[in-house]
Amino acid sequence: HVKNNGKNELVVYNSNFHNQDKERHIAMSFQSALENGEFYLCYQPKFNLHTGKIDSAEALIRWESPVHGFVSPAKFIPIAEKNGFIFDLTKWILNEACRQMKIWQHDHHLIERIAVNISAPMFLSDRLIEIVKYTLQAHDLNPRHLELEITETSIMQQFDNALNVIDALKKEGVSISLDDFGTGVSSLTYLKMLPIHILKIDKSFIDDVHTSYEDKALVEMIIQLAKLFDLTVIAEGVEKVEQLNVLKELGCDYIQGYFISRPERAEVLNAHYGRREYK
Ligand code: C2E
Ligand code: CA
Ligand code: CA
Ligand code: CA
Repeated sequence: HVKNNGKNELVVYNSNFHNQDKERHIAMSFQSALENGEFYLCYQPKFNLHTGKIDSAEALIRWESPVHGFVSPAKFIPIAEKNGFIFDLTKWILNEACRQMKIWQHDHHLIERIAVNISAPMFLSDRLIEIVKYTLQAHDLNPRHLELEITETSIMQQFDNALNVIDALKKEGVSISLDDFGTGVSSLTYLKMLPIHILKIDKSFIDDVHTSYEDKALVEMIIQLAKLFDLTVIAEGVEKVEQLNVLKELGCDYIQGYFISRPERAEVLNAHYGRREYK
């Protein structure tokens, strides 16, 4: 809202202004938050519908700020992408996820692969491959234990560049999944060209998969498409057994969602699941 303040000066009063202020405040807190250990990772299991077992998990960042309170990644990740902090943050996340994966591997834990979300600016930079290689080496971790989730939209931003990065990561032995599939506008031609391993169907298609004939048909098409391209397919945001049953019927490979488990700290998952041989 633009108002006249009586002195014939126009003053802008709008919520956008306050949002920008808040965003700047958040951006200013990032570096010290990292140094003070305010970030931590939670892990959300991925459940294999063929074996009936959890065998992997997705790392999701959490931030408990003494100043801002709990801040959702959906809010602060876009800010970190804008101000460049995402590079340092992703380095920290990769390191932390690989450190945890090494412990799980050593303990013969159920979770044999960890997925890390990679934002577009990080993914499209030429630094990612070096950082991934360095981090795997630092933890003496085999690349087969690492998966990177990249969104359809970040690939479409710079397709040729993305293709090169994915190729290099694949050569390295790291798995790549296409996150939030169905929300972007990638054409089938592009999908065919991408050397990815996993298609992750967005939650918005899963929400009504058990009640809407149309959504079920859409999900069925995505699963068939994945099979045609020899990709593993995973459904995110599964909250109900009804959804699980439909997805199983349609031949989906994996599910993830509150029905199996919320994202939890490693210690919580260890208490629930633990070692492979005792399962
Ligand atoms: P995403 O990668 O699509 O992650 C899935 C989000 O859905 C997560 O929210 C997860 O907690 C939530 N979720 C999982 N299962 C269910 C369910 O059954 N029901 C509902 N209602 N929600 C479910 P979260 O952790 O708040 O993350 C939101 C987004 O923030 C992520 O979406 C991702 O885009 C971004 N993000 C989170 N952690 C990271 C990270 O470490 N790095 C980067 N670059 N982005 C991250
Ligand atoms: Ca993800
Ligand atoms: Ca997702
Ligand atoms: Ca999503």
